[in-house]
Amino acid sequence: MAIFRAIYSSARNFSSATARSLRVCVVGSGPAGFYTAEKMLKAHEGAEVDIIDRLPTPFGLVRSGVAPDHPETKIVINQFSRVAHNERCSFFGNVSLGSSISLSELRQFYHVVVLAYGAESDRALGIPGEDLNGVHSAREFVWWYNGHPDFSNLAPDLKSTDTAIVLGQGNVALDVARILLKPPTELAITDIASHALAALKESSIRKVYLVGRRGPVQAACTAKELREILAIKDLYVNIKETDLLKTSADEEEMKTNRIRRRVFELLSKASSSSASRPSPGQRELHFTFFQKPEKFLESNDQSGHIGGVNFEKTILKGSASSGNQIAAGTGEYEDLECGLVLKSIGYKSVPVDGLPFDHSKGVVPNIRGRVLSSSRFAQPEGGLYVCGWLKRGPTGIIGTNLYDAEETVASISDDIEKRERISTSTKQGREGLLQLLESRKIQVITFSDWEKIDSEEKRRGSLIRKPREKLTTWKDLLEVATR
Ligand code: NAP
Repeated sequence: MAIFRAIYSSARNFSSATARSLRVCVVGSGPAGFYTAEKMLKAHEGAEVDIIDRLPTPFGLVRSGVAPDHPETKIVINQFSRVAHNERCSFFGNVSLGSSISLSELRQFYHVVVLAYGAESDRALGIPGEDLNGVHSAREFVWWYNGHPDFSNLAPDLKSTDTAIVLGQGNVALDVARILLKPPTELAITDIASHALAALKESSIRKVYLVGRRGPVQAACTAKELREILAIKDLYVNIKETDLLKTSADEEEMKTNRIRRRVFELLSKASSSSASRPSPGQRELHFTFFQKPEKFLESNDQSGHIGGVNFEKTILKGSASSGNQIAAGTGEYEDLECGLVLKSIGYKSVPVDGLPFDHSKGVVPNIRGRVLSSSRFAQPEGGLYVCGWLKRGPTGIIGTNLYDAEETVASISDDIEKRERISTSTKQGREGLLQLLESRKIQVITFSDWEKIDSEEKRRGSLIRKPREKLTTWKDLLEVATR
């Protein structure tokens, strides 16, 4: 609490001693949140920007989503840390929109609220058996190996089976398949959570099926990520030659989409250069196309554990020119046995009370980042904006959020200039926020508290030749942050 009082009093002196008047709150400290904060600070010298996050740690997807063997993608943390050190910017972690503070309270304290809290749930297939043990979403698995405190105790069973099925063929599917197949010695030098590394070292999974409901031309991954998984040491890759037969609609689709063409070429090359069968003990990656999951099957011992997936064979129908060939069932079914399923069919955003939300698209209805009010999504709401996956859906790479933030900040700047939608009355901003959180006894984690976590993780990592050894429980994170 002493730390908290220090923040509170410095915020009070700070606001009365300067002419800063535009109070901005960004909810979510992932790429969309930090890019928005950076753009706002640059565009408005009078702006004071507070970033809140429900976790005690900043950086969202960069910390919890990016694969541990992709350290180069995490370098952007340096840029975000510089933003957090800007004297007009503050980070307040362990503050959850919806439980620590409501959206309407935030809107009372701030002139501008930008929601950038991403997509913390998953699309569901809605087929029988989805709740069997051993069926996880890829997000849960990713959070587990990345040490997210909500999923550090997921404990996926990697020991009682040699086969995993990954549903979906996007880059997240490739990430989880790669983590399952890569030699653990190569993961041991990354910042992978120690519980995940230990489980992967003991894993008996040797075969991973990456299953798509459409064909190799429509696989949602990108070439760089595909090349990376195909390059795993001593990996047997299997792709049925019949799946690689292209239709004229496929040719048409590839003509207008360079990424699709490149992915198809890589898959064809992998198919032709692979041996006809795996050598004993070799790890296997099977790309399976034109299969739609129909139901999850319980294992024979009736233990409530996954034993396989029943698929319906598909063919493609629809227009190729707009990339819209869709998978239609053929009425032919087949079972594939496994002991683990990772559903990688897309992330989903979750609304909070008082937030207009388009449930069919899973996004906040908006025009160029201006949130549209819930009455038929007609009028923009005053002072409320959105950015990132919550705005456009769960697609794109980290850099996509830079352009997204530019668009949202341009809308805010436009509204300020035209004196539209944004209140000109004095707002309490940070002072009001911290007072309320103190009254609710919420332990706020500042950026310097996070830096204590950061140093401790790096210190622990240096002892075992890892870049960091992540703290993976709420208790440890909060304890180290407030030492
Ligand atoms: P994604 O790229 O949208 O892929 C989703 C996959 O799920 C597609 O194969 C899709 O097939 C399939 N799918 C969706 N609904 C399905 C259903 N009902 N039944 C069967 N399959 C279904 O999503 P993601 O892999 O979660 O990735 C999210 C974003 O993060 C992407 O933009 C991705 O590129 C990015 N990302 C990038 C990296 C990187 O750059 N290294 C790493 C991870 C993620 P259809 O095509 O048939 O719908």
